[in-house]
Amino acid sequence: MGYHPRMEPIGESIWCQDSGKPGVSLAISFGVHGNERAPVDAGLRLVEEFGRGERTLREGKLLLLHANPRATERDERWSEGGMDLNRCFHPDVLAAEPELFEQRRARELVEALERVEAEVLVDFHCTVEPGSRFLMQHPPVDHAPSRRAYSLLQADTLLADPDLNFGGVSFDEWMSTRGKVGICYETGWIGDPANSPESVHGEMLNLMRGHGLLEGEATRYPEKTLLSLAGTIPCEEEGFAWCDGMGTNLQRVAAGSVLGTYASGREVVLDTDAVLIFPKKKPELVKIGSPLVYIGLSG
Ligand SMILES: [Zn+2]
Repeated sequence: MGYHPRMEPIGESIWCQDSGKPGVSLAISFGVHGNERAPVDAGLRLVEEFGRGERTLREGKLLLLHANPRATERDERWSEGGMDLNRCFHPDVLAAEPELFEQRRARELVEALERVEAEVLVDFHCTVEPGSRFLMQHPPVDHAPSRRAYSLLQADTLLADPDLNFGGVSFDEWMSTRGKVGICYETGWIGDPANSPESVHGEMLNLMRGHGLLEGEATRYPEKTLLSLAGTIPCEEEGFAWCDGMGTNLQRVAAGSVLGTYASGREVVLDTDAVLIFPKKKPELVKIGSPLVYIGLSG
């Protein structure tokens, strides 16, 4: 790729600044789900600040990716067609002839990471259901470059998935399956006023400082509480309804608890003590054959 002393677009809603000096090649993405506004607004603010020259890199390279701008335009999770971009990074999907925007877009995003030889990707999201911040990563938790990256993020919970129980389908998994740092960062609930563009912007800056891209002291956060992603509870029937009080992110639920009931009356019961991750409470996110919820285990 060419040398970009100022931040410049290198694709649709993809920007790069290359300091021309050795250092980390850091990619920050936002808006894989278009309506997750806090990360989108924080990321676009960085694009403006770098574009105007108000910020400049001291070393390394920075790639900023507004991953699904079409979905942001619609203020929805995905663009027309209803395809989740964060399920389009599996090698089989990337190799297939794209039919929908998200499938084509996944290729463009991957090509941008390759062009700048990105070593670290932090993909910023918000959760659909309430719950505090957490991050998910797929390399072993003691992988040193991953530790450096996640110690710069405020979340106090790390959901580890070295076995790719998530499916090898997401943007961050594309990085981690290539031995690089790929982190999915959930900055909190989409409806939480504290999960603001200002707060996310601050986290993005901290990430840059901690990797040497910006001047200044970075904040390093204490060790995270570890969870491991054990799998999912798939939706098997029509008409699933959650029990009252069930289905927040990081909710700890005891073995034997009833999560909810299908229209047939059949109950979905947890067979182990678990932590609920990404519960699908919105009816439009519940699909037969897809997860009702992902299951985290302590330790
Ligand atoms: Zn998301």
